[in-house]
Amino acid sequence: MSLHKKVRVRFAPSPTGGLHLGGVRTALFNYLFARQHGGDFILRIEDTDQTRFVPGAEEYIKECLAWCGIVPDESPENPGSYGPYRQSERKPSYRQYAEQLVEKGLAYYAFDTAEELDAQRKQHPNFRYSHENRLQLRNSLSLAPAETNQLLAAGEPHTIRIKMPADGIVAFEDMIRGKVSFETNLVDDKVLLKADGMPTYHLAVVVDDRMMEISHVFRGEEWLPSAPVHLLLWEYLGWKDEMPQWAHLPLILKPDGNGKLSKRDGDRLGFPVYAMNWVDAKTGDVTKGFREMGFLSQAFVNMLALLGWNDGTEQEIFTATELVEKFSVDRVSKAGAKFDFEKAKWFNHEWIKKASNADLLPQINHIIETQTNRVFEEGYIAEVLSLVKERLTFVEDFWTQSSFFFTEPSSYDVDAVKPKWNSDKQLFFEEVAQEFNELASWNAADIETLFKTKISDKGLKVGELMMPFRIMLVGGKFGPDVFKIAELLGKTEVLERIQRAIPAFS
Ligand code: GLU
Repeated sequence: MSLHKKVRVRFAPSPTGGLHLGGVRTALFNYLFARQHGGDFILRIEDTDQTRFVPGAEEYIKECLAWCGIVPDESPENPGSYGPYRQSERKPSYRQYAEQLVEKGLAYYAFDTAEELDAQRKQHPNFRYSHENRLQLRNSLSLAPAETNQLLAAGEPHTIRIKMPADGIVAFEDMIRGKVSFETNLVDDKVLLKADGMPTYHLAVVVDDRMMEISHVFRGEEWLPSAPVHLLLWEYLGWKDEMPQWAHLPLILKPDGNGKLSKRDGDRLGFPVYAMNWVDAKTGDVTKGFREMGFLSQAFVNMLALLGWNDGTEQEIFTATELVEKFSVDRVSKAGAKFDFEKAKWFNHEWIKKASNADLLPQINHIIETQTNRVFEEGYIAEVLSLVKERLTFVEDFWTQSSFFFTEPSSYDVDAVKPKWNSDKQLFFEEVAQEFNELASWNAADIETLFKTKISDKGLKVGELMMPFRIMLVGGKFGPDVFKIAELLGKTEVLERIQRAIPAFS
């Protein structure tokens, strides 16, 4: 791709609530593209719809980006020379462009009140303000110029609407979809400037992308239907040559592929859809996020990158640096990407395996301290962690996988032992405990040799004694290599656990 102007991309969320994983993916693809081309990644807050504004949402968005390591080069907090970075603060800059279009006959004043429009909607269920009916509605196209001027002079509330051409075709080249075209007859006369003087998203997005010199726009497929309005605005405002290149990202679909993944699917199927916990300030309802559910940010980002993109090989695990290197728009698919929570968990599992002990220790220490109220030696915790890391889907699983390293079993899976328990076995463990006691070197290999030699000396079966031994130390039929467990627990603890378990098995 030949890039003439500096790459400048933007993530432009509206602060209306929690951030859906699709939103974070949009931010990520913009970010990867910017980094790859040595460009700028901008965070712009699109808060012109004040009825949907939710306090705290902007802070939440910023925290999500920070958690994911998607750091903007310019943002409300860290402005560059294209500010302000909140649309509400740019309010005075928009009206002039809407007025310009009215002057050129490409937009018009509309005086219809909310009640009048409601009445229209009641009368015509598929009501759209368009070339078909605009001359029957109350606007500067249907009214005499003198009447329009009078209304304006009297301060009559009005909006400015784009005048969509009849029977036209609007087309552009999407970086992902190739040529996309729209019939203008199917698009209504969108409001550009609202009665309160605020621009709508359509006007603001075009003006700001131009003023901020945005070169490429990666945004969700749900914005594709708005593209013809944006394209015409670029053209009508005389900026067509500066228009960014667009890439509409594939939808993220429900696990069964039937429709767009929504927050409700998450609630219904028990997985998060938001990046982080979102608390509804009015109801206090908490919507669970990936972060709080125990996802590592690297796993979350890696999983998102693969929703609609791959590098053409079988590789699935990518670090952020690799993603910056390998991401390419050509390999973003047009088809929707199904969200698969099991796969998301697999990514987390793989990233936990890859994580260094040092990365995980702060969380692990916290888990151990909360569970036991005791402090353990760091070296011991690190050894346990290395042993069980392979088994963790979430860092929180550490406790279920390894509590027996920190407290003795609170119960035994006796059903797995009792039916086959007999005096030979009891005697074996009593004797083996004594021999363990005399063992000079306490390591897994020597413990194993002693244990197995004794079994064959007594003519018993290895298979029948390993499980009871594990249950004595662990409580259940799980965990890493039993001799390694014995080594880490230490001789005294192992002897105590054997003595304690025998009566429970008899
Ligand atoms: N404010 C829009 C949103 O909330 C941005 C759409 C766009 O990127 O053009 O997603």
